[in-house]
Amino acid sequence: MQAEPVQPPIRASAVIRNIKQLVTVAQQPIEGASGALQVLNNAALAVYHGRIVWIGPDNEAEPLFLSTRQDGITIVDAQGAVVTPGFVDSHTHLVFAGQRAEEFHLRRAGVSYAELLAQGKGILTTVEATRKADAETLLALAQRRLHLMRDHGTTTVEIKSGYGLDRINEEACLHIINNLKALEERTSSSVPQQVRVVPTFLAAHVLPPEYRERRADYLDLVVEELLPSFVGLAHFCDVFCEAEAFTVEECRRILRRARDLGYRLKIHADQLSPSGGARLAAELGATSADHLDHASDEDLKALRDAGVVATLLPGCSYTLRSPYPSARRLLDLGLTVALATDCNPGTSYCENMQMMIGLAMAEMDMSLEEALTAATINGAKALALEEEIGSIEIGKRCELALWQLEDYREIGYHFGVNLVQSTLTLL
Ligand SMILES: [Zn+2]
Repeated sequence: MQAEPVQPPIRASAVIRNIKQLVTVAQQPIEGASGALQVLNNAALAVYHGRIVWIGPDNEAEPLFLSTRQDGITIVDAQGAVVTPGFVDSHTHLVFAGQRAEEFHLRRAGVSYAELLAQGKGILTTVEATRKADAETLLALAQRRLHLMRDHGTTTVEIKSGYGLDRINEEACLHIINNLKALEERTSSSVPQQVRVVPTFLAAHVLPPEYRERRADYLDLVVEELLPSFVGLAHFCDVFCEAEAFTVEECRRILRRARDLGYRLKIHADQLSPSGGARLAAELGATSADHLDHASDEDLKALRDAGVVATLLPGCSYTLRSPYPSARRLLDLGLTVALATDCNPGTSYCENMQMMIGLAMAEMDMSLEEALTAATINGAKALALEEEIGSIEIGKRCELALWQLEDYREIGYHFGVNLVQSTLTLL
């Protein structure tokens, strides 16, 4: 009779047990997992120094970890929760003051965006309010929104500047985003729930009013002064490529300079009209092109061939009452599709990624599996973080959402309430 081979103990600092359903969204096959999202029932996972080192059946965790008498091992009881990767919200404008509820209701009453602008409303209202607010207020407002996101299952948030639009205020907003990042990296509670923050510089959001007659001067300021001095404060540089904002040529100039300085690139592309933004994203090798409501099939194929992630933002269609872009069309063309909130006070005031999944399923022809993939691993791809986060796999960071559900397929079905019980990020 052959002796049982002795399995060498795996070093772990924490083991999460009693997971009813582990929805891994793994990109590589996991033993015992099934379906498009690689789901394991009655599972456990182990973590060492913040990285997942083992995934398997709960009943195998006991002998593997507890009998090896490892010192300082933390056991987390998931109490039968469904567990998914934390959401990766790859497009938000969280740092702002004021709100635009009046504008929202006027638009519903039939007042056009051009009329609103003529009345001095729209994005410039937010620029004015943000410039007037002090840094403490802006930080507190952004942190409250960030914690709402976390409470709805998000563990990574990209945050753009773009309501400062001059040296002092853009720099202040980027510092606030970086301060938020530092605050979130410090854990205070016994259940660690940090949110990872990714800063983006978006000076080319709209032309600031004081530059109305001096457009070229604003571009010079962004390209020659702001981009070089903000290296290290932002990972990404983003532009709003649209008739109401900046032309393809202007965006190309900004993004080329940004790329040379080491920023990664994003573009608000083809949202309100066929602006040429998607083509530019493909040409420059941007990490993502976002919105894409008016992108042609040729534009989309160019994005696909250049490996640019297509980020869809259904909250804008909801708020603007405009037709939803068809995610099905993008998926059929073979694009990598991400979903994000675009949380901002004008066109999508929503912190909740569960809502985006619901809208994507109801209005954009996505299956739950496609929408969950778009909200996790594909969001990570839209931030070039797919090696670190976005799925539950060996070697990745342990950044999870715990759900009060019997089955993950209740997501989108049981709607309008928060189904996430907590997030969990183990370091
Ligand atoms: Zn946006």
